[in-house]
Amino acid sequence: LVSRDNHPERSTIRVGGVPIGPGTVTLIAGPCAVETPQQTLEAAEMAKAAGATLLRGGAYKPRTSPYAFQGLGEAGLRILADVREQTGLPIVTEVVDAHDVELVASYADMLQIGTRNAQNFALLQAVGGVGKPVMLKRGMNATIEEWLMAAEYIAQRGNLDIVLCERGIRTFETATRNTLDVSAVPVAQRLSHLPVIVDPSHSGGRRDLVLPLTRAAIAVGADGVIIDVHPHPEQALCDGPQALVDGDLDELARVIREFPPLVGRT
Ligand code: PEP
Repeated sequence: LVSRDNHPERSTIRVGGVPIGPGTVTLIAGPCAVETPQQTLEAAEMAKAAGATLLRGGAYKPRTSPYAFQGLGEAGLRILADVREQTGLPIVTEVVDAHDVELVASYADMLQIGTRNAQNFALLQAVGGVGKPVMLKRGMNATIEEWLMAAEYIAQRGNLDIVLCERGIRTFETATRNTLDVSAVPVAQRLSHLPVIVDPSHSGGRRDLVLPLTRAAIAVGADGVIIDVHPHPEQALCDGPQALVDGDLDELARVIREFPPLVGRT
């Protein structure tokens, strides 16, 4: 279902009216985690002012350590819904448990499946049945084939509104948190009709790499990028070292505007 064999045209997915697909480079930005109403609103305003058209923010955080901030849960979803009301930005937020899919879908415009759940097949099937667009991150240890098969689990439940997100893979390199696999973008676009975006924030795990990795993503034809921003990264409860602050995001948005998408590529 996600293969280009039976669907040669590349697809455009709409999230609350915002297109993600060929001919556009969609900027999604927001806090890694929803912490407070004020922090989320400030991050959303930064995102909107820079030109982002979708707001990201995690209410359920799949953290490596059980002692790390796990997210605000439904209270975080309510904050996101309020901030959507105030800014008009549709929201993308992660769901980590099949039991929460209906609840998260009742607030979100797009459901995110994170790298750690990228082969949680019960969760993939559940999001496939709930009628909301899905952003499927690549598993940090998944081959491109495994990533596309994960998307197939969602599609098989009747939902073809799927955006693939390359977010870096596990390699022997330790200088970056993950290694951005830029080749995955054109390879996945060649194999699948689904849009492919890149997460330069979680790939590198370092603020100084977000702009260069964004340039790389656009150069290989990514259909969008998803970026962490925070009004006060030094106080962030999650992934502060990779969060952009005000001026950085404006610069990144300018790079996106000035670097025309690869239109007409097959
Ligand atoms: C995120 O985007 O909030 C996140 C946790 O990303 P990943 O699943 O790619 O680590």
